[in-house]
Amino acid sequence: MNAKRLVVLGGGESGVGTAILAQQKGLDVFLSDSGVLTADHRETLLRYRIDFEEGQHTEERVLQANEIVKSPGIPDTTPLMQKVLSQGIRVISEIEFAGRYTHAKLICITGSNGKTTTTSLIWHILRSAGLNVGLAGNIGKSFARQVAEENYDCYVLELSSFQLEGIYDFKADIAVLLNITPDHLDRYDHNLQHYVDAKMRIIRNQKMEDAFIYWIDDPVITREIEKLKPAATCYPFGEKQTAKSAAYTGNGKLYIHTNEHQFDMELELLALEGMHNVYNSLASGIVAKLMDITDEQLRSSLADFRGVPHRLEKVATVRGVQYINDSKATNVNSCWYALQSMRSRTVLILGGTDKGNDYSEIEELVRTKVRALIFLGADNSKLHAFFGGKVENICDATSMEDAVNAAYRLAQKGDTVLLSPCCASFDLFKNYEDRGDQFRECVRKL
Ligand code: ADP
Repeated sequence: MNAKRLVVLGGGESGVGTAILAQQKGLDVFLSDSGVLTADHRETLLRYRIDFEEGQHTEERVLQANEIVKSPGIPDTTPLMQKVLSQGIRVISEIEFAGRYTHAKLICITGSNGKTTTTSLIWHILRSAGLNVGLAGNIGKSFARQVAEENYDCYVLELSSFQLEGIYDFKADIAVLLNITPDHLDRYDHNLQHYVDAKMRIIRNQKMEDAFIYWIDDPVITREIEKLKPAATCYPFGEKQTAKSAAYTGNGKLYIHTNEHQFDMELELLALEGMHNVYNSLASGIVAKLMDITDEQLRSSLADFRGVPHRLEKVATVRGVQYINDSKATNVNSCWYALQSMRSRTVLILGGTDKGNDYSEIEELVRTKVRALIFLGADNSKLHAFFGGKVENICDATSMEDAVNAAYRLAQKGDTVLLSPCCASFDLFKNYEDRGDQFRECVRKL
């Protein structure tokens, strides 16, 4: 049943896209944002003659809604959301809403880390093979807007736990769950299980004819699978071959077999480096095979994928020191993979807005690989408390310029300077892109 009066909370990319789709489908739509809209979004809403407000939420208008599409950025704990929920108004995500209006095949990717990389890689493989495929979710133009304005046969969607929380009838034809490690615990009452439950919604409504691809080496995922018993056909991937594996590695190769046919490829031919990217490639390879991509097409796409900025992005080599921008490493586990893939002594720049981090996960790698730590944050006390005495060289920086200059001083020829912060960026930067862009700029000025 469609809501007659739809209120969209939040006027970012997904909110504006939702409003456009809702209006196209004849709903009575009102968009409300408590902050300031970008000039672009404001202009779009005016051009489409969509009713909206900014700088406030007019409570009575919001509470008149039959249904609300909420931006993933708004937590349920705000006073307005508490009222909405106590009145029993149904709150959904943009993904749920847009999913009602498309028959396209939906390939959905979630996980704590690797979503954007894997989503982009799958899209690259399918598009290079000539499929009419859209890319959406957390990336680029919103899913809702594309459903309104494009005509794709298939979508590759990156889904965060927040977007998954707001799905009810939505179903992924192919679901990919990369890993579950602690993240965003500040939004989940510091209760990991709440976060896990949100992630596991990726298999909601799936049936046997649907596919569920997951990382079999992840103890949290395997525990959940035993509990939830997914109805979809399962395609696990992991480092070693098991009786159930659809994809695995061995003898310097990756193997994928989703049916009788077996695909293999030398790991060193993969475009992306690091073990985490082998996992991302395994998951993507299974999707490709389920989508009937030929071996030749798959091999060439896995080899020529150019990666995504701010994820282990090689910026430059200055005086024999390589600088790597991994600004998107906003939690401890992603930094672990970054450090693990380092082949030389490393000067690590980390810090920012802590999300309830436990740094013991990277302690061993820091001890063995790190020459110096540079804490880049407004408040570095937690980092000092944890790493103090464990690494010889530790220094503080409150701007990217300071951090890069310190790294330049501390690094020795043959070392790597790695920005892989473990933290969100909002204390000193607009977002992780701004942090990575500033890093790139400062390195280029060295
Ligand atoms: P997400 O969209 O889930 O945040 P990204 O692809 O943007 O993931 O990568 C974020 C960070 O996680 C990067 O620093 C990257 O090096 C690391 N990463 C990528 N894939 C994985 C993986 N499969 N497991 C762990 N870390 C990963």
